[in-house]
Amino acid sequence: MQNKFLLAIDQGTTSTRTIIFNRCGDVIYEVSKEITQYYPFPGWVEHDANEIFEKTLACMFECIFSAKLSFKDIAAIGITNQRETIVVWDKKTKKPVYNAIVWQSLQSKEITDNMSIYNDLIKEKTGLKINPYFSASKLRWLFDNYPKLQKRANNGELLCGTIDSWLIYNLTDGNVHATDYSNASRTLLFNIHTLSWDEDLLKLFNIPKCILPEVKESSGIFGYLSNKITQEKIPISGVAGDQQASLFGQCCYQYGDLKNTYGTGCFTLMNTGTKIVNSKYGLLSTIAWKINGQITYAIEGSIFIAGAAIQWLRDELKIIKSASDSEKYACSLQSTEGVYVVPAFTGLGTPYWDDECKGAIFGLTRGTSKEIITRATLESIAYQSKDVIETMKKETKANFTQIYVDGGATVNKYLMQFQADILNSKIIVPATIQTTALGAAFLAGLGIKYYKNVAEITKLRKINAIYEPKISKNRQIELYKGWKKAVKVTRMFKNSVKN
Ligand code: ADP
Repeated sequence: MQNKFLLAIDQGTTSTRTIIFNRCGDVIYEVSKEITQYYPFPGWVEHDANEIFEKTLACMFECIFSAKLSFKDIAAIGITNQRETIVVWDKKTKKPVYNAIVWQSLQSKEITDNMSIYNDLIKEKTGLKINPYFSASKLRWLFDNYPKLQKRANNGELLCGTIDSWLIYNLTDGNVHATDYSNASRTLLFNIHTLSWDEDLLKLFNIPKCILPEVKESSGIFGYLSNKITQEKIPISGVAGDQQASLFGQCCYQYGDLKNTYGTGCFTLMNTGTKIVNSKYGLLSTIAWKINGQITYAIEGSIFIAGAAIQWLRDELKIIKSASDSEKYACSLQSTEGVYVVPAFTGLGTPYWDDECKGAIFGLTRGTSKEIITRATLESIAYQSKDVIETMKKETKANFTQIYVDGGATVNKYLMQFQADILNSKIIVPATIQTTALGAAFLAGLGIKYYKNVAEITKLRKINAIYEPKISKNRQIELYKGWKKAVKVTRMFKNSVKN
C-alpha cells in the first residue's frame, strides 16, 4: 500500500479542486473547476448542490486519469470543504430540495437579529455566536419560507448536511449520511462540550434531529466509493472543514500551534488541545478534529479583508496592474511615511466585530504616492493579523514564537517579512501552499493506518521559507501604536451621508 496515493477533494466556495498526493505529501496532480455563484437577491449567495457533486466527480476522474493512474492506485480519499454551507435533500430521490445556502449568504439575518437574546446560550454550547454565517439559521430560513419542507423534515422524508455530508452521501450512493466533528461544530446545533447534537438548540431552531447526519471522527472510515463510480473498494477516510484541514495540513498538532491563512480574508486558528477557550474578545471556539477518541479544540479569529484589499488596489484604484506589483512597490520605499490604510470595507472582524465602520486612509501629504498607499495596504494585512494573534495570546497565555502560514498572499515576501517584524515571530511558509487539501489527505491516510500517527506525518513537513523578525522592539511598538490609533479613529467615524 505504501506506494499508493491519497486523493483529496477540496470543495471550496469558488471552486472544487482534487489533488493527488504521494505518501510524502508532494502534489502529483491537481485539477480544479469553478462553481457557479447564484445571487438571487442582494446579500444572498447560493450554489447548485448537483453541480458541486458533478464537478467533484469530474475533477476526480480527470485528476486520476491525467496523472496516468487508475482508481487501483488510490489508497484513500479525504474531503475538506467550505464550512457552514447547508444542503437539504430528499431521502427517496436523493435530490436537493433547494440550492445549497452558502456560508456568506445573509438571507437569515432577520432570524439571527431576532434571536440575539440567545447569544450567550449559543456561545456557551457551541463556542460560536448567533450569526447568519452558521448553518442553523439558514435551515430555519428555508423551513420558514417553505413550510411544506418543515412538514416533510418532521416526517423524516428529508436529510440535511454541510457540503462534506452531501459529498459523502453522493460518493457512497446514499449509503452513508455522516459528517465529522469539525464540520458539525460549525452548524450552531452541535454542543462542543457534550459532543452531540444539542436538544435545546434543536428546539430553539425547530430542527428535527432525524434529518441531521451521524457525527464521526475526522479520521476513520466513513464509507466506500459506490460501485457506480468504481469497482475498486476505496475508502473515504478523512473529513474536516477547510480551516481545520489547513491546521492539520500544517502539522499544528500541539497546544499553541498556530496557522494563519492569507486569502481573500485571513483565518487564524490555534490548537488549544483538550481545552475550550471561552473568549471574551470575539474569538470563536471550535472543534479542530476528533481522532482515536481524542477531541482537539481550536480557537479561531477572522479578518474579512486581506488579499481583497490588494484586489481593491488593482480593480478599483487601479494603482497596481497585478497583485505581484504590490511587493515591487512596497520594496521600492524606505517607509510608509506614517500612512495607514484601514481596509474596513465590510466592517472589522476579530477582535473588534464592528460591522458599521468603513475603511479609511490616514496621514496623507502632497507627496503620498501610489507606492506608499500600496505598501500601507499590504501592511494593514499584517496589522490585522497581529490584532487577532495578540488577542489569542491574551486569552490563551500561549507565547507564539513561530507561525505557520498559507494562502495566496504568502507569495508576497514583503508582506511575510513585515508580518515577522510586527509580530516579533518567525513566519514559516510550507513547500506546498495547498495545505487544506494536504490536511484532508493526511487525515485520510491516518484513517486507514497508511500513517501510524501524527508524529510520522510531522516528519513529512517541508518548508519553503522562514522569515525572522528584523526590526527593533521599539520600532515595532511605535508602528503598531500608529495602527491602533488609526483603527480607533476609523471606528469613531460613522458617516450618515449616504449619497
Ligand atoms: P481564496 O482562497 O480566499 O480565494 P487565495 O488563497 O487563492 O484566496 O488567495 C487569493 C488572494 O491572495 C487574493 O485576494 C489576492 O489579492 C492575494 N494575492 C495573490 N498574490 C498576491 C501577492 N503577490 N501579494 C499580495 N496579495 C496577493
